[in-house]
Amino acid sequence: MAELKLSESRDLTRIERIGAHSHIRGLGLDSALEPRQVSDGMVGQTAARKAAGVILQMIKEGKIAGRAVLLAGQPGTGKTAIAMGLAKSLGLETPFAMLAGSELFSLEMSKTEALTQAFRKAIGVRIKEETEVIEGEVVEIQIDRPAVAGAASKTGKLTLKSTEMETVYDLGAKMIEALGKEKVQSGDVVAIDKTSGKITKLGRSFSRSRDYDAMGPQTKFVQCPDGELQKRKEVVHCVSLHEIDVINSRTQGFLALFTGDTGEIRAEVREQIDTKVAEWREEGKAEIVPGVLFIDEVHMLDIECFSFLNRALENEMAPILVVATNRGITTIRGTNYKSPHGIPIDLLDRLLIITTQPYTEDEIRKILDIRCQEEDVEMSEDARCLLTKIGVETSLRYAIHLITAASLACLKRKGKIVEMEDINRVYHLFLDVKRSTQYLIEFQSQYIN
Ligand code: ATP
Repeated sequence: MAELKLSESRDLTRIERIGAHSHIRGLGLDSALEPRQVSDGMVGQTAARKAAGVILQMIKEGKIAGRAVLLAGQPGTGKTAIAMGLAKSLGLETPFAMLAGSELFSLEMSKTEALTQAFRKAIGVRIKEETEVIEGEVVEIQIDRPAVAGAASKTGKLTLKSTEMETVYDLGAKMIEALGKEKVQSGDVVAIDKTSGKITKLGRSFSRSRDYDAMGPQTKFVQCPDGELQKRKEVVHCVSLHEIDVINSRTQGFLALFTGDTGEIRAEVREQIDTKVAEWREEGKAEIVPGVLFIDEVHMLDIECFSFLNRALENEMAPILVVATNRGITTIRGTNYKSPHGIPIDLLDRLLIITTQPYTEDEIRKILDIRCQEEDVEMSEDARCLLTKIGVETSLRYAIHLITAASLACLKRKGKIVEMEDINRVYHLFLDVKRSTQYLIEFQSQYIN
């Protein structure tokens, strides 16, 4: 692998989640990292959000690798919401990868391969490249059209002028197409990227202020802003190590980035890539951007996975690991031992632990209001009070689920806004955990045990 292939596939690393957490737009902190009571779709949980803000700062400074954070708390107390808020607050250049503990047990790849891929998705590489850019005023464009339609592609010449010199460029079909797209004519000022052949129209005629349009079409200057024709421009690509792995894995090819069907990637490929990236770093061509790997339901991992995590965090390129669980003292999978959160003590010891607390009635009401807005559901005051009460007595999640269901019930009776009767109807149609358990206890004898 003499040259590694790269692609700008930034979008793939950050998958927008719609649904349960689509109302979360950040951590809701002010500039001093203090949590606002309601902000960015976040309500309450101030201590946990403040702690997450400190982690955010650590990540942004980019100097710390291999730190791990545990979000621990009862079900539905916003652990995933806080992780999503953290993801939204990171700059676009910081990779964020997430997976649920249960996803590791796939038939297609080993657990450690799945974890390795997740880690490498959360490690960004910022690669700097220099390209030559030429700027000048177009003096003449001459295009030689082929004599026969459909015959060999068009060619031509472009004369570009700066203060001191005129340069003539041979045009290929692609450049001609680009000139056409930008509608370039003589008198226009253009920038040509010599590496990609990309042409950008900077404006018409020239002035040092570059206020081309204001000068009117008659005014003509034949002067480049800096009096020079060629410039070097630094272009920065950001990719994750996993993307480089996939693109260079001969068996998979880059299309696997879109399908997600990457299969196992051979250890030699990764070794070659790590060596190459290390070379680039030494030459000052690349920087490592440690991102965030979020593992939800971390209690689903087994002892092998936990020892993998322990080791992977030692790596100098390791991302910040954020894990979440709603379990108390429970068995560590793959062992007969119990431990807090089902996590081995040695790993637990290196985690910074953030706990989430149950919500107050007022907070539940505010979260439900935000969800109503998010789902575009209008609800009467009475209905909102009832839904809040249901949320307090059952769970926040259950109450959130009833919003859509109640709005469908409202639609069915051709109502305009959701009323108490709609909430009542869906409350009886769908059971919450407590009522479902009660039902089971009553009719247990009729079920198969
Ligand atoms: P579990 O332990 O069951 O995985 P969790 O602690 O991860 O639960 P979430 O899934 O984050 O809980 O929260 C349940 C729902 O409530 C989600 O839709 C979430 O976006 C919303 N939510 C939770 N906390 C907040 C909050 N503080 N502000 C706004 N929305 C919240």
